[in-house]
Amino acid sequence: MSLQYRSTRSDTQLGSFTDILLEGLAPDGGLAMPQSIPQVSLQTLADWSGLSYAQLAARVMHRFADDLPFEVIERLAAAAYTEQTFHSKAIAPLTPLGVEQGAPIALLELSNGPTLAFKDMAMQMLGQLFEYVLTSRGQTLNILGATSGDTGSAAEYAMRGKKAVNVFMLSPQGRMSDFQRAQMYSLQDPNIHNWSVPGSFDDCQDMVKAVSADLAFKAKYRIGTVNSINWARITAQVVYYFAAYFQAVRQYGLQLGDPVAVSVPSGNFGNVLSGYVAKRMGLPLSRLVVATNENNVLAEFFNSLVYRPRGSTETYVTSSPSMDISKASNFERYVFEMLNGDASALADLWRQLSSTGQFSLADNQPVRDRIAASGLVAGQSSHAQRLAAISDIYSKYHRVIDPHTADGINVGRQYLRAGEPMLVLETALPAKFGQTIEDALGTPAPRRAGLENLESLPQRVVAITQDVEALKARIADQALL
Ligand SMILES: *Cc1c(COP(=O)(O)O)cnc(C)c1O
Repeated sequence: MSLQYRSTRSDTQLGSFTDILLEGLAPDGGLAMPQSIPQVSLQTLADWSGLSYAQLAARVMHRFADDLPFEVIERLAAAAYTEQTFHSKAIAPLTPLGVEQGAPIALLELSNGPTLAFKDMAMQMLGQLFEYVLTSRGQTLNILGATSGDTGSAAEYAMRGKKAVNVFMLSPQGRMSDFQRAQMYSLQDPNIHNWSVPGSFDDCQDMVKAVSADLAFKAKYRIGTVNSINWARITAQVVYYFAAYFQAVRQYGLQLGDPVAVSVPSGNFGNVLSGYVAKRMGLPLSRLVVATNENNVLAEFFNSLVYRPRGSTETYVTSSPSMDISKASNFERYVFEMLNGDASALADLWRQLSSTGQFSLADNQPVRDRIAASGLVAGQSSHAQRLAAISDIYSKYHRVIDPHTADGINVGRQYLRAGEPMLVLETALPAKFGQTIEDALGTPAPRRAGLENLESLPQRVVAITQDVEALKARIADQALL
């Protein structure tokens, strides 16, 4: 029997991988988790260590998606992870920077995809999986989303031209950078619809929630999402931790089994959760460093074991904006694992969270022990430290890094251990955040060839009103059925 999934909040069974692929929250409000985490032996690591990225992706993902034939996943991964899309044969190359306090430091380049941020790594595979599953079932899907710039563009580039999929993406008028706007609105594919809203990202998000709350409408027009709680995205991200580890073993002359640390610029906790899953599968990751910016909910948790998410009024606008998140949606999955899969204990904590706004795990010794054993540690980085890291990495290693990666460097540097490589995930390219790079270095960010004239390409966007009924009418008119 194939691997089964269940909810974090009750014993509700959710079926196998393809059953949860297109779903959002479980009916009880929880998130999907596998009944058990697949295990990988040292021998399997040895067998996988020389594979191409696409081959590795197929093997890792098939462990979680074993209701799909291996040959299908292999074909979809080969289509998703090409040199043409990711501008590199390695797809996610590991680039050494130098040695500090006896620890080699390297960047894992995850941002060479079409939208210059790591979300492409999972989203490109999701596009392939959605198209395959929908066409084989004879179904269609209308993805409705709201974006502040990054997730929406990664979703659009992954779904453009895909059969059986339509994308309706709401974006806040005048609140994205010129680069982000141009990246999304220059897409001319007929299945991609950019609708701009006079308001903030939260206003866009509220409109999406209002439409999704109308269950009859949602079912009739086959509305779905591609948000950060999607389990397939988590599994696609597990892959690059394996790719990173194998490259570190080769570049630093390690033995398979030697420990490596990873630093992860974090917001919604999806990326670092994937790292944790890789570690649980048996990948020898000693520590996973959760790097936050001034929005330090996660750093606060790992240092106090109190989880206190913030509201939008307490969320700061920072120069690493993709991490300006104060309620980390995937964190629930990690807590579920720390509770040893006890869904009723998790449901109690989340009830407490909604009534008091926080919960503490500090008095629970078995949970404390599991958190310590999980290898997750955390810290935060400020605007000034971010600029200093961009400038320091440039002067020491002649490499321009983006502000999110700079947070990863800053917090990673707090956890160096002599002899143990620290791999910092490069979650975006500097070109995407040109102003901050100019502030730090006094020169413009480098841009990949082919993107020089992005802002002057023709744009296709429709300005809509902040009116849920009008939005529904527009969806009804344009949905793929
Ligand atoms: C989304 C994003 C993050 C945060 O990743 P999570 O999986 O939400 O923790 C960090 N950096 C960049 C550039 C991003 O786009």
